[in-house]
Amino acid sequence: MAAVATEQTLDAAEAQCAARGAQLTPLRRLVLRLVLEAGQPVGAYALLDRLKTERGQAAAPPTVYRALDFLLEQGLIHKVERLNAFLPCIEAHHGHDHHHPHQFLICRNCGRTAEVSDHAVMHALEEAARRAGFRLERATVEAEGLCAACAAG
Ligand SMILES: [Zn+2]
Ligand SMILES: [Zn+2]
Repeated sequence: MAAVATEQTLDAAEAQCAARGAQLTPLRRLVLRLVLEAGQPVGAYALLDRLKTERGQAAAPPTVYRALDFLLEQGLIHKVERLNAFLPCIEAHHGHDHHHPHQFLICRNCGRTAEVSDHAVMHALEEAARRAGFRLERATVEAEGLCAACAAG
């Protein structure tokens, strides 16, 4: 992602947090920038490493975990459980409800992960759940396969 686009995304995130009465502090903003720049899901340890490079000093792990929790809570990033890693939400800055349904397409070869938000998938799950007498509240789908580049290679 180009630097200017990243800054715009960060400004939008900050405004969005402020509108909810939350504050995107400099550290939270930096962590979000690192997640945006990673280009693929990034784990907490990799983030700690990058923070150290960025700031020239190590950050305490709990500080980073708290920043990640904040970003998750604000719907700015997602956690891909399967990879134990974080990626920015594609819908965060388009005014969508931050509890939008999301599905992750994870490449088993290169680890690249795409987020899709298909309401039809959610409705199909709701319908299947309803038939089983279950009231679905949220569902995250983590699907594994090959990305376009790896499938072509
Ligand atoms: Zn999302
Ligand atoms: Zn791949």
